[in-house]
Amino acid sequence: DKAPKVDPLAVEELGEAVKFAAYRRLGRSLSIRQVDAGSCNGCELEINALSNPYYDLERFGLHFVASPRHADVLLVTGPVTRNMAEALERTYAATPEPKWVVACGDCARDGGCFAGSYAIVGGVAAVLPVDLHIPGCPPNPTALLQGLLALIERAGTARSGI
Ligand code: SF4
Repeated sequence: DKAPKVDPLAVEELGEAVKFAAYRRLGRSLSIRQVDAGSCNGCELEINALSNPYYDLERFGLHFVASPRHADVLLVTGPVTRNMAEALERTYAATPEPKWVVACGDCARDGGCFAGSYAIVGGVAAVLPVDLHIPGCPPNPTALLQGLLALIERAGTARSGI
């Protein structure tokens, strides 16, 4: 059996969004660069958990990279602070096409609990085109995986023209 080794508990928890058959058929992987645009680091703790043996995101063809030049996806956390807006734009410019932007957490949607602060430009969409938003404060690793798997399916579909 050449199916990837999967923890049955994790699969059950992920439910329908996993769609193993679809992503295996599409044969797509995604390289992810995580970008903190001004978060409280709560979202980062959940993102870090994706790499532990329980969630093990690399089994899905998802992996983190150190440079936007090697990335397909920018996974952006936090409200965008004024100090980080230009850095975020330059990070996006450094990412090769095709590329996708994922706004991670409620702050990344609209500034969340920091909205209205003089230091905040807004959500990620105030600076970059956002392809996917994963809600939560913070989103848990299961929600993050569901979102990233939906994206990998979309990316594979776009590439193959299905
Ligand atoms: Fe922190 Fe919640 Fe905002 Fe994430 S969504 S950066 S955990 S306040």
